[in-house]
Amino acid sequence: MSIIVQKFGGTSVADSQKILSAARKAIRAKNEGNQVVMVVSAMGKTTDVLVDLAGQISDDPPAREMDMLLSTGEQVTVALMAMAINSLGHEAISMTGGQLGIRTDSTHTKARIHSIDSQRIHAALDGGKVVIAAGFQGVDESSNITTLGRGGSDTTAVAIAAAVGAASCEIYTDVDGVYTTDPRLVPEARRVPRISYDEMLELASLGAGVMHNRSIEFAKRFGATVHVRSSFSDDAPGTVISSQPESLTRPVCGAALIKDEAWVTVQGVPDRPGAASTIFSKIAGKKIGMDMIVQNVGAEGQADISFSVFRADLARTLKAVEEACEELGAGTYTCDDNVSKVSVVGLNMATQTGVAERMFRALAEKGINLQMITTSEIKISVLVAREYAVEALRTVHEVFGLSQPPEDAEETQPEEPLADKGRNGVLARLHGMEDLIIDEISLDVSQARVTLPGVPDTPGLAAQVFDEIAESGTIVDMIVQSIGRQGQAALSFTVAKEHLEKCLGIATSLAEGFGGQKPTSSPEVAKLSVSGIGMRSHTSVAQRTFQSLADNGINIEMISTSEVRMNVVVDGQHGHKALELLQKEFKEAMA
Ligand code: ADP
Ligand code: ASP
Ligand code: MG
Repeated sequence: MSIIVQKFGGTSVADSQKILSAARKAIRAKNEGNQVVMVVSAMGKTTDVLVDLAGQISDDPPAREMDMLLSTGEQVTVALMAMAINSLGHEAISMTGGQLGIRTDSTHTKARIHSIDSQRIHAALDGGKVVIAAGFQGVDESSNITTLGRGGSDTTAVAIAAAVGAASCEIYTDVDGVYTTDPRLVPEARRVPRISYDEMLELASLGAGVMHNRSIEFAKRFGATVHVRSSFSDDAPGTVISSQPESLTRPVCGAALIKDEAWVTVQGVPDRPGAASTIFSKIAGKKIGMDMIVQNVGAEGQADISFSVFRADLARTLKAVEEACEELGAGTYTCDDNVSKVSVVGLNMATQTGVAERMFRALAEKGINLQMITTSEIKISVLVAREYAVEALRTVHEVFGLSQPPEDAEETQPEEPLADKGRNGVLARLHGMEDLIIDEISLDVSQARVTLPGVPDTPGLAAQVFDEIAESGTIVDMIVQSIGRQGQAALSFTVAKEHLEKCLGIATSLAEGFGGQKPTSSPEVAKLSVSGIGMRSHTSVAQRTFQSLADNGINIEMISTSEVRMNVVVDGQHGHKALELLQKEFKEAMA
């Protein structure tokens, strides 16, 4: 008999009628001959209400007690759902995270799942019951209640689906699938029939709240296909999340926004190995996730290091930065917490010219300044002033034509089931279900770097630079831009070595035009790429990379991180040594 996991989010269980309607969906699946596990969230806005209540009592409530409080929301729903199934003439049993055998680490409010002992679930299913699982919670080794982070019921659902070997995992929510961007912000957004794991992972971690990003890590890791569907209409086709993208050619599949971001630039960091890792280890030590890390080669033996964090994490981040500056005996910082991050994501952008340029140009035409830029093979992120956030999102959505389906949409084939033997082997060895998995560490010595220091911080400059470069037919690989000294920006990018001279020429004449400093370049850089699952949600990956290279005297010139890949650029002569070091550092996580 097949097992089906059905997850219902907060809006889908917001009142008694909705609970009964969800119960009917489960019963229908059961009557079709399946065993059914329901995973449910807290009703409506219950979790928000609980968070707010805690805030009225204390500015800084103990994380353990937060988890004790928040887990009650889901406990209400499971009990009511079991009653609903019962009242409709079927047997059900509700279970909390602990009763489900979900073991987590002890990082309260952001716990990671270590293991699920599925025996009790199987026993209840075999006894003919519908199992009603409380989403978003587990217990640690000492039986303390933990929660997985806001939106974490998706992760519970996919993790249970993986643990019990479910035939399908259906996520019922208040939209009828995954859209090209949040339809509440951009009404022209289009539902996509399918999206790949990597694209969904990036979109989710870059702000697409429709799925918890760690649920997609699980799905990819275990090869589980996830089906996102509407709770409120039965025949809507929804979106299938699997290894297949919607299009094999269109460069961008979706756009996302994180409204409340902040950036920090630490200036005057000694430009020597180890300085950056001192800063990052302090931040990683507080389990704060950084994004958009940019290190720009500085003047007079000093470097500027910039990164973005969630605005809510800024105060703790600055504390960590202060500690690091004190330890280094150098450095000051500037920051801005009035910014938003707008990103576009797509598997096919890596092989096409001018994708970044189109985005930068469209934003420049609206007069929107780009305060920070980072790109990786699969995404481009920019920071803009918060007042322009939604306009920027709409602009990029429009420029990539996302409201229209791609021309090759029909040609992609339906998903095959994928039991990936290699990964399952690793999983058997790994202690934690959510541990970091590294698929590959690779070295690319075909690139050169160009840096434009002292770029005026005004709209349109990045567009101008990449406009001319794209026109010359050059594919730009990595782009980073940050704000450094005296409010000026520094812009670095890599291109294939044979294009260096041409691109340096373009950069030099542009710099003369806007009165910037003379561009610098490195004719031979080594780009190391670490790809896998959980690259960014494991907050220590960047820090471990910096540390292991620093300990061996290798300085990082550029870095970009994404959920599925981290790229670092080092001096060309250190490429092979750096590869060896990273292979050693991440040995235990290699698939
Ligand atoms: P649930 O309570 O069911 O987990 P969420 O509120 O967490 O629901 O997620 C659904 C919401 O996510 C939608 O109402 C929508 O506004 C928002 N959203 C953000 N980005 C996207 C996207 N790309 N596609 C669909 N919905 C999105
Ligand atoms: N109730 C939790 C939240 O609101 C978990 C979830 O709904 O996924 O964040
Ligand atoms: Mg959700």
